Amino acid sequence: MTDRIAWIKEELAGLKETGLFNRIRTIESPQGAWLMVDGRHVLNFCSNNYLGLASHPRVVEAVQNAIRQYGVGPGAVRSIAGTMRLHLDLESRLADFKHVDSTITFQSGFSANIATIPALVGKGDVIYSDELNHASIIDGSRLSGAEILRYKHVDVADLERVIQETAGKYRRAIIITDGVFSMDGDIAPLDEIYKVSSKYDILLMVDDAHGEGVLGEAGRGIVDHFKLNGKVDVEIGTFSKAFGVMGGAVAGNPLVVDWLRQRGRPFLFSSAMTVPDTAACIASIELLTESTELVDRLWDNARYFKAEMKRLGFDTGVSTTPITPVMLGEAPLAQEFSRKLYDSGVFAMPLGFPTVPKGKARIRVMISATHSKADLNKGLEAFSNVGKELGVIA
Ligand SMILES: *Cc1c(COP(=O)(O)O)cnc(C)c1O
Repeated sequence: MTDRIAWIKEELAGLKETGLFNRIRTIESPQGAWLMVDGRHVLNFCSNNYLGLASHPRVVEAVQNAIRQYGVGPGAVRSIAGTMRLHLDLESRLADFKHVDSTITFQSGFSANIATIPALVGKGDVIYSDELNHASIIDGSRLSGAEILRYKHVDVADLERVIQETAGKYRRAIIITDGVFSMDGDIAPLDEIYKVSSKYDILLMVDDAHGEGVLGEAGRGIVDHFKLNGKVDVEIGTFSKAFGVMGGAVAGNPLVVDWLRQRGRPFLFSSAMTVPDTAACIASIELLTESTELVDRLWDNARYFKAEMKRLGFDTGVSTTPITPVMLGEAPLAQEFSRKLYDSGVFAMPLGFPTVPKGKARIRVMISATHSKADLNKGLEAFSNVGKELGVIA
């Protein structure tokens, strides 16, 4: 090894010492309530596949049909040669599902943020950003060159304070918030934030990655949950969570969508969603449109699991959604907890810095509609045993 990269070896060793080295496990089965992980059959408490759509037979079948008709690759970036009928189908179905006028899809939710924020604000502008916003919002904001002013997490009074202190200093302004905060499972008070955005006439953007397929009527998302349909300027979405696939979207005002087709850099300079991704997303939207059964089951499961975890004495933080953080504090404890869970047949990964703040390591349990009551009870038993063994609960 040359000296030029010796620093990386030191950094990696440091991560291992402090319990922050991320050991990535290998999955050898389809996504579902149970997984084959590193050769072991384990209960899945990790994935964002809230509704089980990642391996749903109807979704798989739709993909097989689409591949026979269109092959797999989009061929190019969409503005040059890659907009297929399928992409347009997906965009119009998503608009119908979300009751918005217009949508545009991207390769991922991450891309959607990187595309949208720099297209809407730049140098001389300001972004009012919740301090716990997702990394892709932070990166998109930095790329934009706009000034980023953080307000305290879900604190609307603090947002208003920051706006009042800075009003008039900038050309354009935007408020950006996660809808559901992915590490804590709490929900942004979008109704209150909307009032502030209206009062000061500021653009409003919400990233609904963990709200779509979860919140609102039939899983239409956080905007529907707060009955703000048609009022939020920009809604970012992802197909990689409840929809079970991969891809991103922006829903909202047709002017914003038209602008992104002209100026969203990941749209203009990176190839489109693939045929299988696009076909799978269409099938997932169809399933959500047909029935609320999966969304209902997700919530039943989540309520049961969270209530039982609290009864056992675990600190599950401030979550009001199916995301169930189990707060453990220091990263090495979270890692050890996760290892012991795995040994007892439960797959639940530890999360430490930089995914969550230092000293706030946790195991994040993701409950899904695919879990049976027996699955949940098995998970609860494992948590109870390991929690007692490690002195986390009495
Ligand atoms: C997961 C997530 C993303 C990224 O979505 P991908 O489609 O996986 O790239 C963006 N924003 C938020 C809030 C997320 O939770």
